[in-house]
Amino acid sequence: MSAAADKLTVETAAEYLRLALPLMSQQRVSTTPENYAVWYTYVGGANAELNAEIDRLIAEKKPFTEAVCARLYQQFVAEHEVGNIGQVREQLNRILGEVGASLDEAGNGARAFEGKLGGLVDGVAENNDLSDIRQMLQTLITETRSMQDATQGMRSQFELKSKEIEELHEQLQHERKRANTDPLTGLYNRFALLEELNRAIAEMPSDAPPSVVMLDIDHFKSVNDTHGHLIGDRVIRFVAQVMEKNIKGKDSAARYGGEEFTVLLPETPGGGARSVAESIRKAVESAQLVRADNKKPLGQITISAGIATFQAGEDVMEFVNRADQALYRSKREGRNRVSVA
Ligand code: GH3
Ligand code: MG
Ligand code: MG
Repeated sequence: MSAAADKLTVETAAEYLRLALPLMSQQRVSTTPENYAVWYTYVGGANAELNAEIDRLIAEKKPFTEAVCARLYQQFVAEHEVGNIGQVREQLNRILGEVGASLDEAGNGARAFEGKLGGLVDGVAENNDLSDIRQMLQTLITETRSMQDATQGMRSQFELKSKEIEELHEQLQHERKRANTDPLTGLYNRFALLEELNRAIAEMPSDAPPSVVMLDIDHFKSVNDTHGHLIGDRVIRFVAQVMEKNIKGKDSAARYGGEEFTVLLPETPGGGARSVAESIRKAVESAQLVRADNKKPLGQITISAGIATFQAGEDVMEFVNRADQALYRSKREGRNRVSVA
């Protein structure tokens, strides 16, 4: 395609037609396809001889009779027309193609419009008549406008839907968090812990297995018996806070049930797990808790702990049970201590 044709966009084609019409009516030229072709070529300036001839006729005030028009068409346009229209057609095809391609990305809403564009492309391919092309341009402009409106509508719809989806997503996350959380302490509940355990096992690197620590408040029954359940609940919350303070990164703390807790330490061998368990034990042991109401000391609270490091081939429950066995050894051996399975 020539450089001139490259510059011939739909807008310039429409502009040529817009300029040609008033000239034709000034010169009382009838609006036949042939005459359109002549005057379209004239305003486009693609054929210097034609322009010189028309300019001469106008200067000499010669009427554009049917015979004159037919001669102009035959002499200057007919033999060039295929080329000229070919250029317009090529341009239109390219532009329609580009619009079609960008609509492809826009998705479903654009299908109907694409169908119309397809019709236009076919129409352009078959058509050598400039007036028909002009009509097609008009259709294209109208369709483009209605497509713009439709696209705007689609965008608003899309934004609305995105917002709804976002809200639903937040609701779901909220629900999910609630389902995973122990209401008294805010730690993971047993359900979430088992999920986390399964994940830690599935994702463990071969050289760094997870460890689990089971903890249980010593003689907790007597805390309840002496101070009542409300104070008992506060003690449970206190132990939970100590656990949270002593873990980090991928570690997670859970309330396994009642006054029993679990710490999951992914990618942590027994030694690391032991030091975490010991710091929790020491922090609980050294706390000097007082009743909120009368500031009287609660007396020393202690915990016992048992540690297991994951062994290849065992399932989650076997893993947790080994930590539980170690915990009961701590109880048997005097409480306020940490044992390793
Ligand atoms: P040990 O050192 O052997 O663990 O003795 P313990 O008294 O802690 O153990 P035991 O299993 O005999 O008693 C646990 C008590 O924990 C009994 C139960 O009422 C109390 N408990 C369980 N869940 C809660 C709770 O949510 N709030 C309160 N306040 N008490 C609870
Ligand atoms: Mg207990
Ligand atoms: Mg217990």
